[in-house]
Amino acid sequence: MSVQPLRFFQARHAEFSALLAAPEEGGGLLASLLSVAFRHFEDRAREQCRGAEPIDCRKGCAICCTLRVTATAPEVLHVARHLREDSSAEVCVRLVRRLLAADGLTRDLDEQGRVELRHRCPFIEQGACVIYAVRPLACRGHASHSRRACLQAAAGRSASVPYSVAHRDARSLVQNALQSALRDCGLGWVSYELNHALRIALSLPEAEGCYLRGEDLFADAAVHEVPAEEMADGFELIKRIWVGSFAAG
Ligand code: SF4
Repeated sequence: MSVQPLRFFQARHAEFSALLAAPEEGGGLLASLLSVAFRHFEDRAREQCRGAEPIDCRKGCAICCTLRVTATAPEVLHVARHLREDSSAEVCVRLVRRLLAADGLTRDLDEQGRVELRHRCPFIEQGACVIYAVRPLACRGHASHSRRACLQAAAGRSASVPYSVAHRDARSLVQNALQSALRDCGLGWVSYELNHALRIALSLPEAEGCYLRGEDLFADAAVHEVPAEEMADGFELIKRIWVGSFAAG
């Protein structure tokens, strides 16, 4: 039996908060946060998928990688670090060049604008994601039950793709718990458009340190589909429910 969403959120929030309260020596905080986030996302999505129609995504399929990707600041900084430290100079230069070109095309386009533009993510090479290990939760949470439907949607013949509810919900729960914990620490916690935010992160050698000192580095790249005040109210409401449930228990 899987843990109920509220309990799951609460446990992840506590785990993220504990990591943020006692950062490791050597700058591993963001990697630790995301290792926890990605592991819990995978576990929950797998658990919630049991008995459901199989997922039809496969390696080398990048049909949906033209959609807008949003990410939290730790995810943006994690990808930036990966590009700087884990890629050869040649690959890094190539990817950054493509990222800048993509940002020039996608800047300020909303979700529908990105669907219409159909510009591929700059991180696709030979049909595969070259930052797969560090891809944001938004990409992980986008899983389809029908590749055929994805192809039709990409060709503009249909708008209806049977996305996995389990993956979508697991992404929301983990991401929102992370955002709530970041907010409690006074760190930037909203979602940012990936191309734009990465451009900012890569232009600042001290981006991680600045972020962890509370600077709002990515404000210009913020995506406010749900207003930040509304999300913050939701996080506070969840906390009051915990307190209420403990008091009642
Ligand atoms: S980061 Fe990777 S998975 Fe996400 S849209 Fe880009 S290529 Fe696709």
